[in-house]
Formats: sequence, C-alpha cells, structure tokens
Amino acid sequence: MPEEILVIGGGPAGMNASVMLSEIGVNVTLVEKDSFLGGNPEKFKYKFLFPDLQPAENVIGELIKKTGNNSKVKVLLNSQISGFKQTGNKFDVAIKSPQGDENKIFNSVIVATGFEHFDPARDAKYSYQLFDDVIDIKDLEKMLGEGKFLRPSNGKPPRNVAFILCVGSRDRHVGNQYCSRVCCVVSVKQAIELKEHFPESDIFIFYMDIRTYGFFEDLYWEAMEKHDIQIVKGRVAEITSGPDNTVVCKGEDTLLRGPFEIPFDMVVLASGMEGGPQSLEMADKLGLEMDEHRFLKPRNITLSPFRSNIDGIFLAGACTGPKAISDAITEGAAAAMSAHIYAQKNP
Ligand code: SF4
Repeated sequence: MPEEILVIGGGPAGMNASVMLSEIGVNVTLVEKDSFLGGNPEKFKYKFLFPDLQPAENVIGELIKKTGNNSKVKVLLNSQISGFKQTGNKFDVAIKSPQGDENKIFNSVIVATGFEHFDPARDAKYSYQLFDDVIDIKDLEKMLGEGKFLRPSNGKPPRNVAFILCVGSRDRHVGNQYCSRVCCVVSVKQAIELKEHFPESDIFIFYMDIRTYGFFEDLYWEAMEKHDIQIVKGRVAEITSGPDNTVVCKGEDTLLRGPFEIPFDMVVLASGMEGGPQSLEMADKLGLEMDEHRFLKPRNITLSPFRSNIDGIFLAGACTGPKAISDAITEGAAAAMSAHIYAQKNP
C-alpha cells in the first residue's frame, strides 16, 4: 500500500508539511476547516513579512500554489475530522467534506491547527469595538494589504497613531501570562510601513519591554533612527474619547515616572496569539495533551518539539505556541520528515 499521511490544517506549517511530503512521493490528504488555504496570513491578508518586509504573496502565495496544484496532495476545504481511532500503528479517520463523508486509513498524522488572534474586546480598558479608530494589528495588516489605510471613522489619513504592545499577552488578568513573541516586531514593522505611507504623521509605540528578538532587532533601530518613531516605555491604562474625534490614551511613562494623556487619531492594539478552538477540538478527538496555556503540548519541547504524546501523530506550527511564520514553515518540514520516518518504520 502506498504511504498515506493526513495533515490537519492548511496554514504555513500544514502547507509546507504537505509540499515536503509530496516531493518525496508520499500521498497527502490535507483537511482544512476554512474555505481557503493559507491560514491566518491569508485570512487577514498579511502584506509584508518580517524581518525583510518581503511580500507575503512571495511566501504564502507560493505555498498555496504548490499545495493546491499538487497531484500528490488532496486538499479538502470546508472539511473536518468527524471520527478518529488508532488501529495498530495506523489511524482510521472519518472526514466530513463537501465532497461527501469518507473513511480512510493513514500511516501517520500531522496536526497544524495554528492559532487565533486574541480578541481585544475581552479587555474593556482598550475600548476595542467601542471606537472606530481603535483597531488591532490584524485589522491594520488587512488594511495595509488592501492598500487602503485611512481612519475608519472619517476616511482621512491619520495625523498621529499609537501602537500599544502586549494586548492579551503577559497579562494574568486575561489569563495569558506568556509572551506572544511576534507582536513587538509586527508592530514595529507596521509602524514603519505607516510612516512610509504618511511621512508627516507622528507614530508612538507604548511598550513594557521591546522583544524584537534575534535579527529582528535591526527593525527596532531602523524605526527609531530612520523613521523617527517614538518608542515609549509605558503602560496604557485606559482609552477614552477625546476632542476633535480623537481617542485618548491615558497611562504612565514608566521611565520618566509620570502620567500621560495623549489624543491620537488612531490606536493600534498589538493583540497576541492564543491556541485556537481547532486545537482544543483535535486534543479532544485525537487524545492529544494540551499545556497550561491551552496550546498543544509536544512530548519533549527541546528534543522533539514536533512529536505529540501519541506515537504517529506529529505537531507543527503555532498550535504548540506563539511563533513566527518562518518557524512554522520550518516545523512543517520537520514534522513531515518525522511522519514519513514513522510510516516507514511502521508499514
Ligand atoms: S512580543 Fe512584545 S508585544 Fe508581544 S507579548 Fe511579547 S513583549 Fe508583548
């Protein structure tokens, strides 16, 4: 029997796993709940990827093409896993798709169910959804991607914009104690994009700590030195309405140790990453362990971060924790290799 591997999730990790497996001649079935491939980058139309600001189309678009036009990869969109049981070393899986219900035996499984953006409406102090001009980084990414970045309230260019970091991350109050890893660099990247678009605008970033890790630190310096973006260590405690259709950020500058109250045309919230309901559902259906942060738990985070607690089921991408797209793509390749080795050893 030819080797058959199931990939659950069609984001960057799941797509790259599928493409890698197809290149070594393995048959893949990719099950995706949405009506499109590409995951969150496609859903929210990410425009440029950090650190080199290359068009997302070059990466995500390319993966979508390689996955979708691939005779070895059967893509099932709008589909879900409706039944799952282990039979010996293999997996008997029921799939519900618009093409009909089917049962199939797979040699191994890769779970790449991704993440959800934190919903800032859960924290009332940010007034998200209360004021049109308070948006979050995924909203801004979509606007940038569509090339129509203007104030939602009046359709005019913003004169000044504030970014607020760590929204829904590093915050016990909302139940997310962890750092989401990428929102600092995404915010800095977006601030640069805005400044290039509106050179006359004043842009502020309010931060607890700037965590532009590794080579992404270059963007941080570029933002300050080349684009004159103001990076302020401080916490915003409240967003209220202000004069002349502005939104006011009230908080404390923790370096100067004094309060501030500044009206802005727009506020962008750097909402973090959370494990999505898809991961929870897969944990339940497949018997996977979850960690205390509600992400899927690798068997050994250091030695084998893409192996789950069940032999033959592998994990890839942001379903195991916040990470950059490049890391998710790398994990997709690693999980593909592990799933293939398992299938070869357990024919
Ligand atoms: S990456 Fe930055 S903005 Fe995101 S949670 Fe970590 S410190 Fe906060």
